[in-house]
Amino acid sequence: MLNRHYRYDRGMYDIIIIGGGASALFLAANITDTRVLLLEKTAQVGNKLRITGGGMCNLTNCDEPDRFLIHFGSPQQRTFLKPALMNLSPAATQVWFTERGVPLTAGRTGRCSPDPLMPERSSRCSKIRHSRTG
Ligand SMILES: Cc1cc2nc3c(=O)[nH]c(=O)nc-3n(C[C@H](O)[C@H](O)[C@H](O)COP(=O)(O)OP(=O)(O)OC[C@H]3O[C@@H](n4cnc5c(N)ncnc54)[C@H](O)[C@@H]3O)c2cc1C
Repeated sequence: MLNRHYRYDRGMYDIIIIGGGASALFLAANITDTRVLLLEKTAQVGNKLRITGGGMCNLTNCDEPDRFLIHFGSPQQRTFLKPALMNLSPAATQVWFTERGVPLTAGRTGRCSPDPLMPERSSRCSKIRHSRTG
């Protein structure tokens, strides 16, 4: 995030990502060996992410993808959605976060969030968000 503590020097970054939402943060976290600057217009990145799942930080759904997809739109719309869901499956998403020190637990509806018993749940969530963005 760029704020008054950071200085943007021309030529310092290879990639500039505009916006610090879930998609941008995930992209930034997966870019390696490249200098990335993530610019967010609000005071904090991941604002919407923070309020997902009723404030539990819902990161994926642990239900079987085919069962999960039933909740979305028409069969045609589900056919459109499925490749995106399967490209990074819920299981792979769980592994991704666990490998970065944020194990996920499934709630009653299959919603997967950082372990609610983890004392620093939100800050660890936000640490992941910041891990590749400087
Ligand atoms: C109340 C609520 C509950 C939700 N619950 C769930 C849930 O349980 N499960 C689920 O899967 N999804 C949930 N969602 C949806 C989920 O939050 C969004 O799908 C997700 O955040 C979209 O991510 P994004 O990166 O595409 O966009 P956003 O999260 O909207 O991120 C875009 C970012 O870009 C920034 N930005 C915009 N313009 C500029 C600019 N010109 N310069 C710099 N920065 C800019 C914005 O400030 C924002 O931070 C919920 C959404 C809301 C509002």
